[in-house]
Amino acid sequence: MLVATDLTKEYQSGTSRLAVLKHVSFSIPQGTFVAIVGPSGSGKTTLLGLLAGLDTPSAGTVSLDGVDLTRLTEDERARLRGEKVGFIFQSFQLIPTLTAIENVQVPLELRGEPGAAQRARELMDRVGLADRIDHFPAQLSGGEQQRVAIARAFSNAPRILFADEPTGNLDGETGERIVVLLEELNRESGSTIVLVTHEMYLAERAGRIIRLKDGEVVEDRTL
Ligand code: ADP
Ligand code: MG
Repeated sequence: MLVATDLTKEYQSGTSRLAVLKHVSFSIPQGTFVAIVGPSGSGKTTLLGLLAGLDTPSAGTVSLDGVDLTRLTEDERARLRGEKVGFIFQSFQLIPTLTAIENVQVPLELRGEPGAAQRARELMDRVGLADRIDHFPAQLSGGEQQRVAIARAFSNAPRILFADEPTGNLDGETGERIVVLLEELNRESGSTIVLVTHEMYLAERAGRIIRLKDGEVVEDRTL
């Protein structure tokens, strides 16, 4: 369970304080698939950063499986992210000098996991890229690069995966395929998925839609 309670994030801008998130509260049960929607600048990326423990709120708390992230040190939060959290971004963020499979395998090796090569191969197969493992990112389409990023994000079997506009750089059909893949992995792995998207038809694949406007939750709807 991921619980946000009264989350507020303010930035100092000159002499005034700008609140980009205001008293945001919700609970996301383990294993559910939630979409966060809202216009550009409404605070979606800021919210994901707080939920994932990448950033700390000005007020309020985030608790993941009963652990209050706001009470942890930066090192403790980093460890918890390594154990429980996966991420994918609009810009894929693959390492250009590594092949597709190496992008998945190297993080597994860095974590000292036995059988990293085998696990990387299975993950590449799962995202439908078994025949592209030795391609470099520049030799892959956007949709293929995002599938490598998904394989990498799922490599530590995260309790929760955050995806910040992962289809923003993809055409509609490719974007839809990415969201279908996330949906399947959610079902198979029981990982919670929190998807930020602009596209309502993609958000509607989730079981629930949380809408932000000007830093506030203006709608929280179970589908
Ligand atoms: P979204 O992802 O919904 O487009 P963001 O969370 O990126 O929105 O940004 C919400 C608001 O917070 C924006 O107005 C943005 O300018 C502001 N903002 C984000 N990060 C910072 C920062 N580090 N300093 C000051 N303002 C910020
Ligand atoms: Mg954003």
